[in-house]
This record gives sequence, structure tokens and C-alpha cells, in this order.
Amino acid sequence: MSRTAIIGGGLGGLAAACTLAARGHKVVLFEKNDWLGGKAAVLEEDGYRFDMGPTILTMPRVLERIFSEAGRDLHRELDLRRLDPQWRCFYDDGTVLDLRDDPKTAAEEIGKLSPPDREGFERFMQVASRLSDVSDRFFFWKSVEDLRDTMDLKGSMNLSTLSDVLALRMHRTVAGQIKRDVKDRRVAQMLEHFIQYVGSSPLASPAVLCGIAQMQQGEGVWYPMGGTRAVPLALQRLAEELGVEIRTGTGISRIEVENGRARAVITEDGERVAADRVVSNMDSVRTYRELVGGPAKEAFEKTRKREAACSGVVLYLGLDRAYEHLAHHNFVFSRDPEEEFAAIYDRGEPAPDPTAYIAAPARTEPGVAPEGGEALYVLVHTPYLRDHHDWSKMLPEYRRTILDKLGRAAGMGDIEARIKVERTLTPQDIHERYRVLNGAIYGLASHGKVLGAFKPGNRSRQVEGLYLAGGSAHPGPGMPMALMSGWIAADTADQDAGGVPARSRDVAAE
Ligand SMILES: Cc1cc2nc3c(=O)[nH]c(=O)nc-3n(C[C@H](O)[C@H](O)[C@H](O)COP(=O)(O)OP(=O)(O)OC[C@H]3O[C@@H](n4cnc5c(N)ncnc54)[C@H](O)[C@@H]3O)c2cc1C
Repeated sequence: MSRTAIIGGGLGGLAAACTLAARGHKVVLFEKNDWLGGKAAVLEEDGYRFDMGPTILTMPRVLERIFSEAGRDLHRELDLRRLDPQWRCFYDDGTVLDLRDDPKTAAEEIGKLSPPDREGFERFMQVASRLSDVSDRFFFWKSVEDLRDTMDLKGSMNLSTLSDVLALRMHRTVAGQIKRDVKDRRVAQMLEHFIQYVGSSPLASPAVLCGIAQMQQGEGVWYPMGGTRAVPLALQRLAEELGVEIRTGTGISRIEVENGRARAVITEDGERVAADRVVSNMDSVRTYRELVGGPAKEAFEKTRKREAACSGVVLYLGLDRAYEHLAHHNFVFSRDPEEEFAAIYDRGEPAPDPTAYIAAPARTEPGVAPEGGEALYVLVHTPYLRDHHDWSKMLPEYRRTILDKLGRAAGMGDIEARIKVERTLTPQDIHERYRVLNGAIYGLASHGKVLGAFKPGNRSRQVEGLYLAGGSAHPGPGMPMALMSGWIAADTADQDAGGVPARSRDVAAE
């Protein structure tokens, strides 16, 4: 039986491992850390439990598909709760706006704040829905590197394809699309934050990414009981049941390439493990730079200049008294989004008055904190790491900025008096723990009106038998996309090994 080596046990690596093993491949997975799940890690201290990385789960259908590969029902493996409101938004002027789960109710709430934007929001959601549909048909569930891989532009340019191409609004940015549809700057600021799921500026990202709004509004925000950490744990169980050989605490230092084809991986201890194909869940740019090297790396770097997406600072705060006015997911918005985005994405400096995202999972699962307490997670996006950034020096001052912001705009002025446990995660920590590019949380930036949405494809064009999975490969970052990326890498590798194409499987299953 042929063997696939997987480098990295993040969500992308785990999804690839489960899919390949479910299709009968022999799989060995190497993870340098002593836990699986990568950024979806957990921190437990003094009765508080914090998800350390992702907290907002959308598009559970991606997980459903991965579990169904092995004939499993996701909903038997995970207890998923749909949240309403999806987000609670706090603004500097004292306004509080809930983004409700039901689109009609969401529009009504927005209409109460800004009457013309009730219809504007509905218009925006229609565009988002169309873009999500086009993404589903042309962009998802297959390896894509550029426009040529999405649709057969020359072969079948008929009216319907043309209408799909026009729907992509390639001349427009996310911010440009939102500005056309809504008038109130608070509503616009909320909608612009959908693009923060991919760590990029709405002023520079292509309008096609407005489809993310539909993936959340149309499909819901979900919380797995046990925290988002329950997702990699469920995948790990599945991988083990399917016979995946898991080697934690084992970093890979090189992919051996012979005559243009991946032949083996070399561990940091110098062990050579032969493989018929390799899936890398390590950051795609660093895979080429550090594991592949040589002409293949040169060829990859020439294809396009790649820039890291944003990074972030997280405060994990165990409080002895809960803030009952918080919802499960909250945004405390910056006073001026343009100032904020210019700092993070143009100047490469932390925003002077940032947007803070707060997760208060005790709303849904009280057991995350001692009775009456709160396991608060506060995330502020920062620029990706620059040479002059030293977060060991920058953190104390920025922590102050963040806590002051929560006091000023979210009614949490006494937060310091409530803190019993405090831990932090900085861009430097993210860089080292997960071996990402410049501390990026969300892989590669999605900037550029035409090419912004395209990431390195899942089937390497430079090395035969090498596949990329994870947030810095197609279709991009975030839990559902990283999981889908793993599925695509596995499906592509399986097809290259003579397996049945996914679409034929779907038809057979129907
Ligand atoms: C603070 C934070 C908040 C986030 N919030 C959200 C959110 O709310 N919703 C959402 O959808 N997404 C969110 N994300 C993004 C989401 O977590 C990621 O997109 C996703 O988890 C990435 O998965 P991955 O498989 O690409 O990579 P990773 O999780 O980075 O996993 C890669 C793994 O590979 C291992 N590895 C790397 N190199 C090697 C090597 N050479 N040898 C062996 N092992 C190696 C690493 O140790 C790591 O375990 C957040 C991320 C962070 C950090």
C-alpha cells in the first residue's frame, strides 16, 4: 500500500489525514508540538478553560463532509449549538447593535439604528449570497491557484458563465461594495469585519470575499460544546480509528525531492521516512523556503509576491465576576476604521485605538469558568511581525490600550479588579508555536482586487507528489477553509493516485 506523509497536525493536516485514511490510504502524520490541532489549542488554569485560537465556527457542512468520508455523522461526534445573536457590537458612541441569526430579524435590528440600511443590508446580503454561490461552484472543493483553475473561460464562455464572472465584481473592494449598499458608518464597520476572518483590510480585499457574510449569516455561527478545541479532538479520534499513525513531538526539517518528485520527509532528528506523496500543513511559503528549497522554491517565489495576513494579541482573562451584558461573541469597535486599517495594514504598527473581539463562552457553556466567573478571551488584530517589533517590550503598553478600550466602550471599567488569571499570546508566540509566516494568524493576505482571493493551490505546481493544506493554501484561512483545504489536498492526492474523483463519488452516493 502506498504511503502519504503529512507535515503538521493543524485542522488542515487532520482533515487531510482523515480523508485519505477513509479512502484507504496509509497515512503517517508528523506534528512538532505535543498536541494536535495547531492554533485550535486550549489553555486550562485554576478552573478556567480558554480556547486559545479560533472561537467562531462557521460552515459546519465542511466538517460534515469530512466525517461523512468515513461514513460518520458529525452531529454524533460534536454537540453543536447555533448562536443568536451571532455578534454583539459595541461602538465608541455608546451604540450597541446585535447581529441577529435570522437574516430578517438582523435587517430589522439594523433598520432600528438606521432606517435606510434595513434595505441596504438586505441588498448587501443578496450580493453576498450570489458571491457565496459562485464561490461554491467555482472556487471550493478543488485545487485552485488562479482564475484559469476556476472556470473554463475560453471553452464554455456562455451567458451564464459571463454572468458569474460579472458577479465577482473584480473592479471593486469589500469596502467599496459595502459603501454602495449601506449608509450608516456603524453598520458599515460591522459588515467590514467579516473580512477580518481572513486577516485582511476591507479597503484592499476583493469584493468576492463579501461572500463570507453569507457563509455566516446564511449558515449560522456555531459553538461546539467543549469549545472549538472539541473540533480537533473529534478529528484526532477519527484519525486514530481510521489507523493514521500519529507522531507528535516530531518536527520535519526537509522534504526530499528527487527528479522533481517528493520522495520522503526527514525529521529534525535526521530520520528519513519514505513516502509516495507528502501533504504539508506547514505555512505554504515556509514549506517552500525551509523544507523544499532549490529551484522549486525559486519557481514558487517567482509566481507571486506573497504577504502575510495580520497577526494578533490575545489576552486570556479569568474573571471572578461575569459581565452579563456581553453576548457569546462581541466586537468593541475602533473609533475610526480607516485609522485602524491604515495602522495595521499600511504602516505596519498596532492601531492606536483598536477593535477588540471578546469571546465570553460562559454564556453558552457555564462550565468554562468557576461559578459566577468568566473565561474571557480578548483578541486584537495587529500587523504581521516586522523586524523592529519586540512584543516582549510592546505588550505591557498595548495591554493597557486594550483594557482602557474595553472600559471606555464596553462598560468594563473595573475589569482589572476582576482578573484572577491572566495569560497572553503575542505575534511572536504565534510565530514560534505554529511556524507561520511573520506571526500571521490567517495565512496570507487577501489583498488585490483581482488576485486577492487566490492562494497557492493545493497541488504543487513545482513539486510532483507535494500537496498543500491549511490556512495559507487554497481556499484560505479560518476553520472551515483550513478544513476544506485539507480535504482538497487529500482528494487531489487521492485522484492523482488513481482514486475516484469527488464529484463522481457524490453522484454515486446520491
Ligand atoms: C488567535 C486566533 C484567533 C482565530 N480566530 C478564528 C475564528 O474565530 N474563527 C476561525 O474560523 N478562524 C480563526 N482563526 C484562524 C484559524 O485558527 C486558522 O485559520 C486555522 O486553525 C489554521 O489551521 P491550519 O491547519 O492551517 O494551521 P495551524 O493551526 O497553524 O497548524 C499547522 C500545524 O503544523 C505544525 N507544523 C508546522 N511546521 C511543522 C514542521 N516542519 N514539522 C511538523 N509540524 C509542523 C504546527 O506546529 C501546527 O500544529 C484564529 C487564529 C488565531 C491564532
